Amino acid sequence: VTVIWWCRRDLRLGDNPALCAATEDGPVVPLVVVDPALLHDGARPREAWFAATVLALDEQLGGGIVLRSGSPVDEVVAVARDVGASAVHVSRETTPFGRRRDAAVRAALAEHGIDWIETGSPYAVTPGRVVKPDGSPYRVFSAFQRAWREHRWPRPARLPSEIHWTAPSGSSGADAREALHAAVRSCEVPLPAAGEKAALAVWERFRTDGLPRYALDRDRPDLDGSSRLSPYLKVGAVHPRTLLDGLGSGEGAEKFASELCWRDFYADVLHHHPGSLTTDLTEVLAGLEYLAPGPEFEAWQRGETGYPLVDAGMRQLLAEGWMHNRVRMVVASFLAKDLHVWWPHGAAHFQDLLIDGDPASNAHGWQWVAGTGTDAAPYFRVFNPTAQAEKFDPQGEYVRRYVPELRHLSGAAALTPWKHTGGYDHGYPARIVDHAHERLVTLEHYRTARKS
Ligand code: FAD
Repeated sequence: VTVIWWCRRDLRLGDNPALCAATEDGPVVPLVVVDPALLHDGARPREAWFAATVLALDEQLGGGIVLRSGSPVDEVVAVARDVGASAVHVSRETTPFGRRRDAAVRAALAEHGIDWIETGSPYAVTPGRVVKPDGSPYRVFSAFQRAWREHRWPRPARLPSEIHWTAPSGSSGADAREALHAAVRSCEVPLPAAGEKAALAVWERFRTDGLPRYALDRDRPDLDGSSRLSPYLKVGAVHPRTLLDGLGSGEGAEKFASELCWRDFYADVLHHHPGSLTTDLTEVLAGLEYLAPGPEFEAWQRGETGYPLVDAGMRQLLAEGWMHNRVRMVVASFLAKDLHVWWPHGAAHFQDLLIDGDPASNAHGWQWVAGTGTDAAPYFRVFNPTAQAEKFDPQGEYVRRYVPELRHLSGAAALTPWKHTGGYDHGYPARIVDHAHERLVTLEHYRTARKS
């Protein structure tokens, strides 16, 4: 009997437990619902990326994806009834939005006697499964990671060689397909090659060329030493289990597994604290007063703070919809601790511009830097944007790549234009705040907040 594979954040055929489970039941309708809540006019980069990935999957299936535009409750139920489906198969969604949506769809299907079957999730270990012996969640990453490594991820799921795909007669989904194309066309940043084949190609290249040096180079934005797989993981064009399975051993492999564990950890934190996307996870800084976003916040958004590494990062974000992890930490610290703006404002800006914008990794990455997260990162640590630049972009190559006004300064001089004659000759802005002073202000704020 016919079943639906409703594909949301696991947009691939390989190593896809939900799809495998669907194929065991009978003919499969591969369904993608283009939810207007998730795809706006003038799509954000992450929405355009989702659209490009759906189109790549559609092409992989020879135009066979059944596309519908509208509310998932209406569309999933309508297609399921149309084809007489006995069940809808999905990969488990763990964000608050996804859980609310799925509860509504599941309830609507139940009214028609249609089963809802969840198999797997977009994570190596499904959020909520790694718990302390007393059943409570881990709050500290290192302890979570030890337990996570003991949960052996099952081998990648193998698809049967023959799948009987089917589709409802009638509507071809042309409107939805056009909405996806329009989203890709309207995207203001260049999107990487989308889809499962592209993801596996990026992974293969990184495995050969990047992994052996990953432990050394991953913190270096000038060397681009990380995998750039985050956009593909975001939409499930590749599953982390596939990566872990093919990782091999060595220092680079260990470090890479640990980064994938951060991704799982943050999803786990969100699972246990659904409010953490917009509120502090801990009370440690509850009494702190922040400044409302104003002109300095806008200078930060444009990459015109006068701090070269901060500006290079913010301009990389604007130009590419992506930013190197080390630089994400530095720009986040600058907003929270030099400009004294509450982290959700920065997280919202990131989410608007990142191709890999992911609620859990983004909000919790921000909370970690701001010192409000669950982890043991000390809230009083303040990144020095110049020292970070000297350590991680020692020759100023990353800075010169994104900040043309500093290209006339060679080597490390680009990191400190205030020290060099002619440093400001090409229009680079003066520093909008004095880091050494703002650091002391922040530490004083913290002392007062903790006393109250
Ligand atoms: P690699 O170094 O190659 O790592 C491999 C994979 O591990 C990444 O693709 C990612 O899935 C995961 N990973 C690595 N570091 C982290 C981390 N610190 N937290 C969670 N997962 C990690 N990542 C996102 O995917 N989406 C976001 O919206 C996002 N927002 C962030 C906001 C801030 C303020 C900070 C500090 C970090 C954020 N990160 C986010 C995490 C990290 O910056 C990116 O995952 C990483 O830069 C992606 O590049 P890569 O694929 O080359 O990483």
